[in-house]
Amino acid sequence: MAKQVVTRTYTASIRNQQQVSDDLDSLGFSASKLWNVGRWTISRVWDEIDYIPEHDELTAYLKSHERYDDLHSQSSQRVLQELAEAFNGWYGKRRNGDTRANPPGYRKHGDEHPRSTVTFKNKGFKLDTQYNRVRLSKGSNLKEYWSDFVLCEYQTRPDVDLSTVESIQQVRTVWTGDEWELHFVCKVEIEVAEAPGEKTVSVDLGINNFAALAYEDGHSELYPLNCLKQDDYYFSKCIARCDDSDSEQATRLNQKKSRRRTHYFHTLSKHIVQRCVEEGVGTIVVGDLSGIREDEENGESKNWGKHGNLDLHSWAFERFTDLLEYKAEMEGISVEEVSERDTSKSCSCCGCKRDANRVERGLYICDECGMVANADVNGAENIRQKVSPSPATDGGDRSNGWLAQPSTFLFDKETGAFAPQERVTS
Ligand SMILES: [Zn+2]
Repeated sequence: MAKQVVTRTYTASIRNQQQVSDDLDSLGFSASKLWNVGRWTISRVWDEIDYIPEHDELTAYLKSHERYDDLHSQSSQRVLQELAEAFNGWYGKRRNGDTRANPPGYRKHGDEHPRSTVTFKNKGFKLDTQYNRVRLSKGSNLKEYWSDFVLCEYQTRPDVDLSTVESIQQVRTVWTGDEWELHFVCKVEIEVAEAPGEKTVSVDLGINNFAALAYEDGHSELYPLNCLKQDDYYFSKCIARCDDSDSEQATRLNQKKSRRRTHYFHTLSKHIVQRCVEEGVGTIVVGDLSGIREDEENGESKNWGKHGNLDLHSWAFERFTDLLEYKAEMEGISVEEVSERDTSKSCSCCGCKRDANRVERGLYICDECGMVANADVNGAENIRQKVSPSPATDGGDRSNGWLAQPSTFLFDKETGAFAPQERVTS
């Protein structure tokens, strides 16, 4: 076992809910109002000069606004940061070709403001783990009414002890729909397993095969998207039958679709980490997704947008990578990101770059050395070699066909697990 410091969020209930709920309400409403001020400002700037301001620009601009002083300055900063992140996320989707994505909205329903989450950073809270109390600072505008701070008595789950964590980064007040709760974002030291081995494997994410894996010893695995494709086809048909795309029924279908997708990502990341443990892998190499954006600028993007019936955006890949990292970390396996540049164009056997080389029916064929490989596996192998060059590439013979014959794992809806596809032998 080895020790490692990671970030964890612990949820706690508030025992003196009645005493503090009015104060927490007014902080939550204030966060919504500040969000709206920021939202309006961004639209104005965007209309005028066609530019979305970054959060520090927004903060500098709104610092003197009356609503900014409703919350502790660090809490206000965080609201504007979330707003800027929401805008960036939406802008990214638009650039990926998602024309249906809506920009972040105003937080207002008629005359009512929703209770937004408020974040308190190090200067904005004081924790007393002996008496299980936390003091949350208000902004100067709200102080005069009652007191300078809100004193919450909290209760964490029995297995969580906040006095033993390395440090507490943030406290958040979160409205659950009928009461307030606290989220403590902590740095925690955890025991992680020793790495299962020293081998490397690479994971290339894509839209034909969601993941292609290339192991150091030469074998490879494919995880096709068939199941997500069927799901997307099914749900888009159901949603199309709804009268209104904003209807409750359509919303429910969308939520169900996204829950199933999340389940798929969880199961696949778990399965891949399990395979790594079995194979003695110590390092997983994944393609750096920001490289995709670079490629887009060069006009030769991977098609991350709509693909047949499936619309998978880069955030889906980012989310999957996060899950994979989290699960690998627990097993002592490290995850490294490398640039994907040229990994789909080069021959993983002789290094020759494709111009003359062809991709036919998903196979990469190198005219230089004669290698024939599954195109996604060839890409994965190139990613892997960026971290750990394979001895087989130095004069070894890789054209023996293993790259062309990866094992394929399919998601079995009956068992909810991945199982190897039976090889068709003729
Ligand atoms: Zn070659």
